[in-house]
Amino acid sequence: MAVIVQKYGGTSVADLEKIRAIARRVSRTREDGNDMVVVLSAMAGETDRLVQLANSASGGEPDRREYDVLVSSGEQISVSLLAIMLNKMGHRAVSLLGYQVRILTDEAHSNAKILDVETGLISGELKRGGIVVVAGFQGVDGKGNITTLGRGGSDTTAVAIAACLKADFCEIFTDVDGVYTTDPNLYDKARKLKRISYDEMLSLAGAGAKVLQHRSVELAKTYGVPVYVRSSFSEDSGTLVTKEDEEMERGVISGVAYDRDQAKVTVVHVPDKPGIAGRLFTPLSDHNIVVDMIIQNASSEGYTDLTFTVSRKDIGEARRLLDPVAKDMGASRIEYDENISKVSIVGVGMKSQSGVASKMFETLANEGINILMISTSEIKISCVIGAKYTELAVMALHDAFGLEQEP
Ligand code: ADP
Ligand code: ASP
Ligand code: MG
Repeated sequence: MAVIVQKYGGTSVADLEKIRAIARRVSRTREDGNDMVVVLSAMAGETDRLVQLANSASGGEPDRREYDVLVSSGEQISVSLLAIMLNKMGHRAVSLLGYQVRILTDEAHSNAKILDVETGLISGELKRGGIVVVAGFQGVDGKGNITTLGRGGSDTTAVAIAACLKADFCEIFTDVDGVYTTDPNLYDKARKLKRISYDEMLSLAGAGAKVLQHRSVELAKTYGVPVYVRSSFSEDSGTLVTKEDEEMERGVISGVAYDRDQAKVTVVHVPDKPGIAGRLFTPLSDHNIVVDMIIQNASSEGYTDLTFTVSRKDIGEARRLLDPVAKDMGASRIEYDENISKVSIVGVGMKSQSGVASKMFETLANEGINILMISTSEIKISCVIGAKYTELAVMALHDAFGLEQEP
């Protein structure tokens, strides 16, 4: 008998008919003799609706604690509906919210990190033959406040529970049947991967491929949880995310990702003195605003420009924090640009290959796309470009690196 954690995303629980189909799939897996924990997202569009409500109610920057109380509520609806259906089908099923399981997180509202998952209640239910249905995305901090794990956080709930229960594997059911060489909804030439290493999946997720939340892959890698990405609407075996092994594809590049949720901030003509970067970035990190790419221009006559990117949702708060600091430091102005996106190529194979970056830059140039920022790591190269070129860039890079064909 295996212990299996299954997670179903928003489109998979979009209406009662879809939840009923999931109840049937869960029921079959349970009747095969497996212990089952099911993690659900909110019904499709519900979290977006709640986020909009919070923004409208507050005029833009809702109180972070209350924001989490509100946006976590979508998952309460979907888990209870599935449990009602499973009970009706004759199973013993119980829904649990994040604070009931006790998914303990830090206090970073709207982007909280899981510190621990108490397994007592879940294990007890499994021993009694129950199916446990857990609300994804939710946690509770040490003071008992409700927290949420960032958009897409139900993936992380599922993998964290799988890790703590030492489950045999974790299945992430979604609206595509696996991890592809790029977003199959953007480019129909995207090719499905049978297996992908934790490291490559981490890079893809970090570069914006939202099929798995970045933190869920971090946890899967740390605790060695095998993760299958599968379709809720078919029996296809999907993509296995696992340790790098001999059977994996050996192309130079394994995927192209894009991230439209980016904004660029440029602090113009600031005195080039020790401590400026610290003064700019400390208030951002104190407010849990993640800074991604950073470029500092070469100094000219004692002045420099500093450019970096943050998530688009954080731009209002960043502006409020940075405008006074920049003024105080003697910068001539700050520019904010939300019309950008980031495209990245990812692959373990690029470690041992030269010319990959130049091929990326040439490909973008041939399409007339101007590169605004560049960053590189061992297995990823990212370029910030104008938002309107996103699709064109992804397709051109996918073609240039021959991703349609198996290597
Ligand atoms: P869920 O609601 O099930 O969590 P998400 O919308 O968060 O689903 O993630 C699934 C989506 O991820 C797909 O519909 C697809 O558009 C997108 N996606 C982006 N990059 C990839 C990729 N490389 N492979 C598969 N899907 C991808
Ligand atoms: N419902 C949350 C969201 O839409 C969490 C998730 O779906 O993973 O971001
Ligand atoms: Mg998701």
